[in-house]
Amino acid sequence: MRKLLQSVLGLSFLLLCLTACKGSAHDSPPVIDISSPDRTVESLWAFQSWEAVKDAKEYANRQHVDYSAFAPEAQAKFKGQLQRSIERAGYQAKNRIRKVEQETSTRAVVHASETGWNDETEDITYLLTKTDKGWLIRDKTKVCWRCKGAGEVDDLDQKTADIEAGRYSTNPKKKCDICHGKGWISAIFD
Ligand SMILES: [Zn+2]
Repeated sequence: MRKLLQSVLGLSFLLLCLTACKGSAHDSPPVIDISSPDRTVESLWAFQSWEAVKDAKEYANRQHVDYSAFAPEAQAKFKGQLQRSIERAGYQAKNRIRKVEQETSTRAVVHASETGWNDETEDITYLLTKTDKGWLIRDKTKVCWRCKGAGEVDDLDQKTADIEAGRYSTNPKKKCDICHGKGWISAIFD
């Protein structure tokens, strides 16, 4: 009886270990924490990073055809590309929060620096509001790529018209047609 108990216990321990040790930490999604504005944004990044790495690994695992016998150099290059795509996939992990502005008890702005796949960084602003569940992202904005935040751009048509009419022309401007004069665009609503 004791022996049986021992083996059952041993088996349960083995099963427990197998379940716990089956996947690395990367295989289970990160825990979502929306208890503060910065934690919400960091949780979003952790999730994006986790998913991107998972996708890259799954893609690499689907490549079953081995070209070594036909084109060894091509195979080596391909394997290297797959490996690099996995390494680069989790680039959201490099994102950083620059500043958190708590505007009211239920509204906050998180200024962040986000890194793209090409390692270029971009300033991003998140607007969050507090709900009974926690802090939720309401908007994600960035500086308008066309006017670079000015809200207006050179009016080349006007300048050409001025010159053609013989009028003195300095540097006529017009409202930016991408951000409609705001200087920023929303990644969610624009
Ligand atoms: Zn603009």
